[in-house]
Amino acid sequence: MSDLSNEQIEQNFAEIHPLMTPAEALVEANRCLYCYDAPCMHACPTHIDVPSFIKKIASGNLTGSARVIFDANPIGSTCAKVCPVEVLCEGACVEKT
Ligand code: SF4
Repeated sequence: MSDLSNEQIEQNFAEIHPLMTPAEALVEANRCLYCYDAPCMHACPTHIDVPSFIKKIASGNLTGSARVIFDANPIGSTCAKVCPVEVLCEGACVEKT
């Protein structure tokens, strides 16, 4: 039995970064330039094909997008929660915010 209240447990397991809405994800995905020699892919320790999974999000193929990620990294969901993207793929992206 935990000494924490349900609210504390819920807070401890909450997402650090709020999830995007489908519309926000579509807008962000359409910003990708699909670079030929994608620096984001080289910056990723598991070399996920970042432009391909982003392009699949932009075309509504979310299953295909997940497949691209999990082909390169079977624990991609876990890594997504802890990966310092701001210094890896996002940090290397040519399309700055
Ligand atoms: S560097 Fe940025 S713009 Fe280029 S493919 Fe990667 S995510 Fe897209």
